[in-house]
Amino acid sequence: MSSSQTFQIAVFPGDGIGHEITPPALELLRQVAKRVGGFDFEFRTMEAGAAAYKKWGVALSEACRHSAQEADAILLAAMGLPDIRYPDGTEIVPQIDLRIALQLYAGIRPIRSIPNVPSPLGDKRAKALDVVLVRESTEGLFHAMGEGRGTIVDDAYCDDTMRITRTGTSRVVDAAFTLARHRKAQGLPGRVTCVDKANVFSSLAFFRQVFDERAVENADIVADHAYVDAMATNLVMRPWDYDVMVMENMFGDILSDLGAGLVGGLGYAPSIDLGDKHAVFQPCHGTAPDIAGKGIANPTAMLLSAALMLEWLGSKHGEDKAKEAGALIAAAVDQAFINGLITHENGGSDGVKEVTNTVSESLKTVMI
Ligand code: ATP
Repeated sequence: MSSSQTFQIAVFPGDGIGHEITPPALELLRQVAKRVGGFDFEFRTMEAGAAAYKKWGVALSEACRHSAQEADAILLAAMGLPDIRYPDGTEIVPQIDLRIALQLYAGIRPIRSIPNVPSPLGDKRAKALDVVLVRESTEGLFHAMGEGRGTIVDDAYCDDTMRITRTGTSRVVDAAFTLARHRKAQGLPGRVTCVDKANVFSSLAFFRQVFDERAVENADIVADHAYVDAMATNLVMRPWDYDVMVMENMFGDILSDLGAGLVGGLGYAPSIDLGDKHAVFQPCHGTAPDIAGKGIANPTAMLLSAALMLEWLGSKHGEDKAKEAGALIAAAVDQAFINGLITHENGGSDGVKEVTNTVSESLKTVMI
């Protein structure tokens, strides 16, 4: 790669607070590229989501899908609005269609505490919490989302189906082991916990069986198991006992919101939807329609998602400058909160503008 690499980024602000938190992320990306040098961005911003559906009758056009496929990475804020729905009443969630279309099978959800951000955990160990939840993202209890959901029969019952496949489980479990290996090299424990309900559901016993098979192939990494109900307690009581956790789609959906709560709220939780070729970087939260347009949203999860994007682009393209830029954004976020930011969701008065400006100021001087 040349020293003047330009990364093509497909940008989806989506709906609700997505329009408020996307411009700061792009601004910060431009700023860090300028500071570090060696690479640049070309952003292609596209309309998709509930508002796009209302306007054109299509939530994610073919053109958007194509651009996403062609881009080096996809930065997505949030999509969906409660009062704009498909005729059958279901929510408009094209980000889930994108996961299926691009086979983004591993939802990487870091749960990392930020200095000074209040946590409901009293323990001092919560101040240095750094664990990662890996959510299978193409099947499980969500598997029919792209094809039509469970149907109510005779107004009497409705079945949704949990689909666990060998291929789907193997690839997400391997992604978890790879991540743990990477973390081990950085001095973290390097351990993968399979979170399931193998004692009750055949599908999840199969998930565990495939996990155990993959554990044999990844013998350099410690592997163990936990039931999801016990894990809900353990994540509240002693999350620092874990490192990387891998689980079925629905369990990951729920536990990653719990994880966000441990580090201050949904506004602090970034994510990657990772596939073999593509990746979408987005906050764990939704469009937050209750606070949209008020300027009080916390953009931190979006800024940290942009940082993860840089680190991933850097690793993928062998571009150390991009990796450095990602680490700088994460460090600037930490520094901004050390400097005293308190967001609305934690009872403070800092919103999009204040957080963005403080992080941007920190980015001018922060070192890694
Ligand atoms: P989805 O189903 O799309 O994930 P959700 O139903 O979980 O969405 P969110 O949109 O994530 O809902 O919002 C849940 C709550 O968290 C709301 O009260 C919202 O205001 C709050 N929230 C979400 N994101 C942020 C943010 N970035 N800053 C502040 N509050 C937020």
